[in-house]
Amino acid sequence: MMSGIRGNVGRSESMRTGASVDSHDSVGGGSTGNGGSGGPGSNVRLGFANLPDQMHRKAVKKGFNFTLMVVGESGLGKSTLISSLFQQDLYKDRELGSATERVNKTTEIDKRQIELDEKGVKLRLTVVDTPGFNDAINCQDCWRPIEDYIDNTFEQYFKDECGLNRKNIVDHRVHCCLYFVSPCGHGLRPIDVELMRRLHSKVNIVPIIAKADTLTQAELRDLKERVLADLDRHKIQTYRMPDTDSDDDEETRRQESDIRACIPFAVIGSNCVVESADTGRRTRGRQYPWGVVEVENPKHCDFAKLRIFLLGTHMQDLKDITKEVHYENYRAKYITERMSKRKGAVRDDFETRKSKNTTEANFEAIVDTEGLLKEKEDEVC
Ligand code: GDP
Repeated sequence: MMSGIRGNVGRSESMRTGASVDSHDSVGGGSTGNGGSGGPGSNVRLGFANLPDQMHRKAVKKGFNFTLMVVGESGLGKSTLISSLFQQDLYKDRELGSATERVNKTTEIDKRQIELDEKGVKLRLTVVDTPGFNDAINCQDCWRPIEDYIDNTFEQYFKDECGLNRKNIVDHRVHCCLYFVSPCGHGLRPIDVELMRRLHSKVNIVPIIAKADTLTQAELRDLKERVLADLDRHKIQTYRMPDTDSDDDEETRRQESDIRACIPFAVIGSNCVVESADTGRRTRGRQYPWGVVEVENPKHCDFAKLRIFLLGTHMQDLKDITKEVHYENYRAKYITERMSKRKGAVRDDFETRKSKNTTEANFEAIVDTEGLLKEKEDEVC
């Protein structure tokens, strides 16, 4: 009687969870089956090995969001690179201001969204460009709108998290900032250092050497070394790729070490199609009197590796670091500041009331619960 009931329970459980149960291992059957010392049920497949598939299906259905920021002075090829990366001309409508207009130009934030679909996988990409950065004669504080923008996205996310509709938060946080270094300098310039020092604890900075086709191989090697040395000297922490896992296959490890070795990425962008000298294939490139440079040719620049890094291998890690490190830093700082402000306000209030010798000088009365609740409500709304 007992074993019959147990048998039924075992079967109905397996049906509910979609698990497969070996008949030798029916619960209470007493057989050790193939499980040996594992005891009853040790051979039972519960079915959660399919979790990755379920999560994958759900994620694919929902689609992915990614926000990429590009920073660097005008003319370094930011919009051309974005068009080359995503095979779309996002900036067709952009008008370049005259030199006079740019004399007093301040940094703007230009946000564009595109939806990409590859084999049914949807990527909602937001590109945040920063035209005007470092354009004016007086560039003091030209980093401020960029820093404010990043802070505001964190603040918005924090408020949304505290709000009632936290299930449907739209994430505007910047997951990666491609910082364009000029190929004409001798490493980082003061404005590069200033901006990166302000942003490195708030966003994943990935340094890019723009217009790599304007440098010889030796010059490029030299510039890369100088940029890395400058970052080190100024203690700027750019995005650090995680160490490869020991269980990663040989190909993955090789690919990751190739990518790691070429940071800062030296890139070339183009909106024109040329014929590849090697393959005869039509491809994005730049035609010069002496030949053709191909954007996607790894012998010509690091564009292909940058694209693999961004879209193929490290997008999720960039999002994780944004969430777990940069946003958490912001949140902790925000909460600590709010608390110390509030403590200060309570203390001031206490002192005022004490000096007036009011009868309400007891602490409970001074902590104005109503006021605090109102303040919290305002914060959340
Ligand atoms: P942005 O102001 O940084 O967005 O720069 P643009 O993408 O508008 O490019 C400015 C100019 O540089 C245009 O004439 C582009 O054709 C050119 N350009 C863009 N990328 C490259 C590159 O990789 N190499 C060279 N030599 N020129 C480039």
